[in-house]
Amino acid sequence: MAHIFAIANQKGGVGKTTTAVNLAAALVQQGQRVLLVDLDPQGNATMGSGVDKRSRSATVYHLLLGLQPLAQVRVDSPTGKYQLLPSNRDLAGAEVEMVDLDGRELRLKRALQEYAGNYDFVLIDCPPSLSLLTLNGLCAAHGVIIPMQCEYYALEGLSDLVNTIKKVHANLNRELKIIGLLRVMFDPRNTLGQQVSAQLEQHFGDKVFRAVVPRNVRLAEAPSHGVPGVLFDRSAKGAQAYMAFAQEMVERVRTL
Ligand code: ADP
Ligand code: MG
Repeated sequence: MAHIFAIANQKGGVGKTTTAVNLAAALVQQGQRVLLVDLDPQGNATMGSGVDKRSRSATVYHLLLGLQPLAQVRVDSPTGKYQLLPSNRDLAGAEVEMVDLDGRELRLKRALQEYAGNYDFVLIDCPPSLSLLTLNGLCAAHGVIIPMQCEYYALEGLSDLVNTIKKVHANLNRELKIIGLLRVMFDPRNTLGQQVSAQLEQHFGDKVFRAVVPRNVRLAEAPSHGVPGVLFDRSAKGAQAYMAFAQEMVERVRTL
C-alpha cells in the first residue's frame, strides 16, 4: 500500500507546491511509483508537472464530487513521469458544493482507497488554508510533510497547523502524524534563519528532515517550463537538495 502524505502549511508561498512536485519527480528517479494530487484550485502543481490545467475537463473537483472516477481524472506528467490528479479553478467551487455531501471531509480518502495499492507514494499538494480541501488532504493521509521557511513568524504559523493536525488526529484520522518539517528557501548567510533552524531542531528533534533546501533560482524557473526542478537542472543545488530529501523519505518510510 502507498504511503500517503499531505504537504501542508496554511501559509501561501512557503514552498508546498515546489516540494510536492520535486519530491514526486525525485522519488520517480529513485524507482518509486508516485501519484501526485493537486488539491489547490490554483493548479500550480498541475502546470509545474507539464500538464495544462485549462485543457483538463476531468479534475480533482470531479473526483471529490463523485462526478468522475479516479481513472478518468488521472493523467501522466510528461516531464516528471509520475501520475497526476490535476486541478484548476473549478476546484474552488468544490469547497461550497461539498458542504452538504455526506462524509465531506473523507471524499478524497474514499476516492483514493481502491487505487492506493498501485503506488509507493501518494503526495497531496494542499492549498494555503485550513479549509475543507486541506481537511480532505489531512483525512486521506498517513502523515504530513510541512515545508517551512526559517523566519520569525514561521514558528507562530506552525502552532496553528500543529493544533489542526492534532484535532484531525483526535476526531477524524487516528493514523495522521507529522512526518517531518522541511526547511526550504534556506539562506545560510541569514543569521535569523540559522537561529530559527536551530530552534526547530531543538523543539522537533528527529521530526526535522536532515535535507535542507536552499533558495535557488533554478527551482523557481522550472515551473514556467512545466518541468520539475530536479529534472530542469540536475546539477543545481536546489535539485540536489530535493534528491537528497527523496532519499531521506524512502529511508524514513521504512521506519514507519
Ligand atoms: P506554496 O505552494 O506554498 O504557495 P510555492 O512552492 O508555489 O509555494 O513557492 C512559492 C514561490 O517560491 C514560487 O514562485 C516558487 O517558485 C518559489 N520557490 C519555492 N521554493 C524555492 C526555493 N527553494 N528557491 C527559490 N525559489 C523557490
Ligand atoms: Mg502551492
